[in-house]
Amino acid sequence: MRLRVGAASDIGQARDRNEDAYLVEAPVFAVADGMGGHRAGDVASSLALETLRDIVGSRDWGRLAEQVREANRVVFDRASSDRNLAGMGTTLTAVIAGPDEVRLVHVGDSRAYLIRDGELRLLTEDHTLVQRMVSEGRISPQEAEVHPQKSILTRALGVEDSVDVDEASVEVRPGDRLLLCTDGLTGMMREASILEILEGTTDPQQGAEKLVEAANRAGGLDNITVLILDFADGAAETVDTGKVAALGGAAAEAGALKPAAEGTGDGDTVTIPAVAGPPTPEREGPPAENFVIDHGLAFS
Ligand code: MG
Repeated sequence: MRLRVGAASDIGQARDRNEDAYLVEAPVFAVADGMGGHRAGDVASSLALETLRDIVGSRDWGRLAEQVREANRVVFDRASSDRNLAGMGTTLTAVIAGPDEVRLVHVGDSRAYLIRDGELRLLTEDHTLVQRMVSEGRISPQEAEVHPQKSILTRALGVEDSVDVDEASVEVRPGDRLLLCTDGLTGMMREASILEILEGTTDPQQGAEKLVEAANRAGGLDNITVLILDFADGAAETVDTGKVAALGGAAAEAGALKPAAEGTGDGDTVTIPAVAGPPTPEREGPPAENFVIDHGLAFS
């Protein structure tokens, strides 16, 4: 399997800073959306990704969820020891890409989607108050889209001393495309529009940039971060990208790891590991015919 990667992060049209961040360090890929006053959101998302990144050095792929819990402790400890950072937190949606499956971990309201056969399938559940209300049947998905408490999280990384981490294994095959994104994309655009742009773009970097552009055109009320992984047939289990190692958004500004120079897209390869660790059941999702869910525009 060959893997091609595209990533883009943008401050949007309404915010003072970009508190989103992404990590591209094959085989680990992640997005994070930080929150908190002053510069705390930037610190939370950067710190979470820097801690997650340690797993690449250790190559202990089965520890993915444990590494997310470690990131929780690191962010929580920093928030507890610096009053300027008190209460900060971040979302984190991350994958380890293996030759025929990805392992997914998730906390918060960033999202992972699988695009296959022209359908967009949501792999994650938003950890938000309104999603809980939808699950309990108290409001409809349509009401959730315009709910005033839409952005209130029920779970985030770094706000308590421990965190529940959603985990899943998702089988992937050539032709599949994985989208990781923050709510600055999904809050501004219908899923049908996201799918349309993805289906019209074969290059993952172009796809990421086009999605960011579209969210900005729709208003750009929040920071926007998009990461696209394309799985293709290939002789070697390699990643084909100009961004073999890159931290983007707030994490890049923090200077932890300079974004990789724009590559040619065909020179850099990293071996993808067979993903180790105990198999975890795929999260129960909606049936296939419901995979394209039109949430409607959140802002118009
Ligand atoms: Mg956001």
